[in-house]
Amino acid sequence: MISNASNVHSRKATQRLPPWIRVRLRADGQFSKVHETIRAGGLHTVCEGARCPNKLECYNRGTATVMILGETCTRRCRFCAVRNEPPPHPVDPLEPARVVEMARTLGLRYVVVTSVTRDDLPDGGAGLFAETIIQLKRLEGVTVEVLTPDFQGKRHLVEAVLAAGPHVFNHNLETVRRLQPDVRPQADYERSMQVLRIAAAWLPKLIVKSGLMVGLGETDDELMAALADLRSAGCRSLTIGQYLAPSPRHWPIARFVPPERFEHYRRCALAMGFLAVAAGPLVRSSYQADQLMAAAQTMENG
Ligand code: SF4
Repeated sequence: MISNASNVHSRKATQRLPPWIRVRLRADGQFSKVHETIRAGGLHTVCEGARCPNKLECYNRGTATVMILGETCTRRCRFCAVRNEPPPHPVDPLEPARVVEMARTLGLRYVVVTSVTRDDLPDGGAGLFAETIIQLKRLEGVTVEVLTPDFQGKRHLVEAVLAAGPHVFNHNLETVRRLQPDVRPQADYERSMQVLRIAAAWLPKLIVKSGLMVGLGETDDELMAALADLRSAGCRSLTIGQYLAPSPRHWPIARFVPPERFEHYRRCALAMGFLAVAAGPLVRSSYQADQLMAAAQTMENG
């Protein structure tokens, strides 16, 4: 579920990168404060866990996407850098309070919360998601976006998260229908669509969001079919980014999509009725999430 955050740090991958993929490598601005705050709070971020190429840029800007429920995932998506061992830790009921403290210390107005997938837990971690949302919303003026797993398609668990009142509900489709069984073997295209449908039906004003990677072996026709399916599921906000393999052991990169092609995808998605679309080589599901949310709201109200 973590989405299209993959690193470019492997030597082989770096050698293959096209000229339009340039990752910021200097830590400055608020990097140290973000790094120390996360460490002091005993928290994890998807920026670290999934080795996101935008980590330095986001930390420098004073922001990060927090990853609750530990740093070990119970699934093995072939594109993902998040580790699968040791076995996940028990749920820490104090984690939501530490997330709130992090948000307060960093002065965050927009907080994105994600998690590893916890198929080992009876509630899939939905309870901790809900508690984190509730506690964050007690901070004045804070907007909360969640990027959730599929909770094995269990409606009552998705609804438990929705009932806590996130402002944006994000669940990533990740790739096109044909590639799902290979790339994301413990997930399912239809199940992800169902999760998005449940969220879209929950509250008309809720922004439902999803994300896709390109470069996994999909065709443009398959990509357009996935966008159309997302729209019919009620998804209104979208990210599309380039897949970058975390290591040579991960799913291989099938193609590098140039920026002008991403712009084409963005225009196609907007023409299909998405309110806001971020598409580009280094776009990831929570990259500049506040700006995407603002764009979606502007479109909705205007
Ligand atoms: S569910 Fe898949 S994409 Fe999400 S953290 Fe686990 S392995 Fe990574």
